[in-house]
Amino acid sequence: MKIIKKKSELKELLYSLSNQKIGFVPTMGALHAGHISLIKASKSRCDLTICSIYVNPTQFSSQKDLRNYPTDAKKDIKLLKKHHCDILFIPNDFELYENNLKSNEFDLNNFDKFMEGEYRPGHFQGVATVVTKLFKIVSPDIAFFGEKDLQQLIIIKYISKELDLKIVSVPTVREKNGIALSSRNINLTKDSFKSATIIFESLCYCRDHINKYDIVTLKNKVKKLFESSKLNLEYLEFVSIKTMHPVDVICDNLAICIAATIENIRLIDNIIINAEETN
Ligand code: AMP
Repeated sequence: MKIIKKKSELKELLYSLSNQKIGFVPTMGALHAGHISLIKASKSRCDLTICSIYVNPTQFSSQKDLRNYPTDAKKDIKLLKKHHCDILFIPNDFELYENNLKSNEFDLNNFDKFMEGEYRPGHFQGVATVVTKLFKIVSPDIAFFGEKDLQQLIIIKYISKELDLKIVSVPTVREKNGIALSSRNINLTKDSFKSATIIFESLCYCRDHINKYDIVTLKNKVKKLFESSKLNLEYLEFVSIKTMHPVDVICDNLAICIAATIENIRLIDNIIINAEETN
């Protein structure tokens, strides 16, 4: 695996490989089996797989959250080599932003109005900024994103519409107990990890009782469950995947999205209930 830090070097290399189908997996590192499923998806569809690792400051609304974001470059490199990733791009802030560490302003079609967009102001402008910068450098044929970050996936699909690029989504990889794999899970104590199973359990409860109770009742039941847990529920929303806006009756293209914190660690998850093909 080639490890590249400079965008000029990566561009040069890619120029010399111009007839290959390029798959791209952007990440923030602290890699786990969820990320690896994206690498595998890329390897199965492309000639050359490029992974990037960059913890993007402009998508963090809290400096403390940014400082606490886990990193483990050595382990990441070992894991990517094991799974035969071809190129790892690890830029620094200057490579991507030069001296202007700020987001650009994107039209996000109001996909960022609720949930993560509401709780993390500016988050998706930061994501859109870094992803378009990376797309410009890598020029992939296909870029791979996880359903785990559903709102992000929908936003990236939207901003990529004008680009000559396909976005492929990959299902969420979970622990045996249902918790979605996340880099942030590293920061959970054993106890918190156990308690966090309530997140996926709540999503499954809603999915399994969707024909029995209305949305308000389901939300209230989950709120009560959280009140007797160690987690603080930020939101539970039933949304249309077409708009990423909350709905109050069951409809087609429905997803249930949740965010909760435990010991200042923020976890998000979702279940897609019924959707037309997401890819
Ligand atoms: P991150 O490093 O958290 O920015 O994630 C990089 C990519 O991996 C994003 O497209 C995520 O949606 C995806 N991802 C993160 N966790 C998972 C998971 N548990 N299963 C599948 N994909 C994931």
